[in-house]
Amino acid sequence: MFRPKIKIPWKKSSLCPCGSGKTLNRCCAGIDGTPRSKPFNLNKTERKTGLNRSGCYLAGQDNCGAKLSLEHALSHNIIDQLGDLAIRGFPGVDGETDVVVPKGSAGYKVLCNLHNADLSPLDAQAGRVFAELGAAIFPIRHPANKERENWVYIDGPRLESFSLKALAAYVAAKVITRSGKKVELNVDWTKLKRAILAGDLDDGGGMYICASPAPNEVDGCQFIPISNLDGQLVGIHCVMRGFSFRTIFDPTHAGAGTVPPNATFRPSVHQLYGIGGSAFIYLAWRRRANLRQYSSGRVITTPTGSSSSVPFDLLAGSPKEEIRTKLLQQPTEMPQSFAPIDVGHFEADPPPILGRSKR
Ligand SMILES: [Zn+2]
Ligand SMILES: [Zn+2]
Repeated sequence: MFRPKIKIPWKKSSLCPCGSGKTLNRCCAGIDGTPRSKPFNLNKTERKTGLNRSGCYLAGQDNCGAKLSLEHALSHNIIDQLGDLAIRGFPGVDGETDVVVPKGSAGYKVLCNLHNADLSPLDAQAGRVFAELGAAIFPIRHPANKERENWVYIDGPRLESFSLKALAAYVAAKVITRSGKKVELNVDWTKLKRAILAGDLDDGGGMYICASPAPNEVDGCQFIPISNLDGQLVGIHCVMRGFSFRTIFDPTHAGAGTVPPNATFRPSVHQLYGIGGSAFIYLAWRRRANLRQYSSGRVITTPTGSSSSVPFDLLAGSPKEEIRTKLLQQPTEMPQSFAPIDVGHFEADPPPILGRSKR
């Protein structure tokens, strides 16, 4: 299939989209000029406080702070952009009911103060991405703005780590439910912590982007844990402003059906489109960008469609489908059979505007 090469909007002399303030050329550009993700390591092994604070999920290296602090799974940078939060899957409440909580209380004491601060760069990027997605999606939901074409820059590995950090908070706080009942999930904490702190994932782990988003058009943020039928936690499904992605951190236990067959593994560009046009998301990875590898997803517009925050709609959608993945194959037999990596498979929706000449 012919795929036009996409033109990204940043030149070597532009300001780097990562937000450093340097030019792209002096910052994140690879040899071909496309932005790459730089390695990171938030694991402060050199710090020795001699403390392992009980209740901190990153304890164990004698580098905890003295007290537990409130960790906002959803990131306070995102929460600040919203009103009160509606949370579905709250312990003791059936799986269909949203519980509205004041934003000040939407956190869990699962990290010590020092480890909480260590992870704050992930929150900072998530907050920026959330704001930019909001601005980019608004015009595509409104036909009057047809000419606008926005780009959003995402550092892929950092967004993966952020989504897994949110997952870790839910697991550590023991608040994951299925049909309203609390569930205990098995989790490989070694893998999960390695992924959060340094973006270090096993082969087959990482972000899978769906051609069609989950059946919702949320203006907010939705996180749904993904487990296999044996109760092994393997990843998290996130929807941020209509951008839907699943991050798998434990690919060896994921079974077939964990991600939709039309998902694309770490594409370079994801196009969101709606009645008002398109928004493009550039995803920087450590490898060279493949600007012919892209995915697309439609943003479904509701009659009341608006990109301002609608707290009660935050967790609309159908968590049951995602939380209960089908295990069609024994994971030991087909460890990475759960998602296609071949870019020829994902295109379930018509590719709308890509490749058009510049407007
Ligand atoms: Zn940069
Ligand atoms: Zn700690």
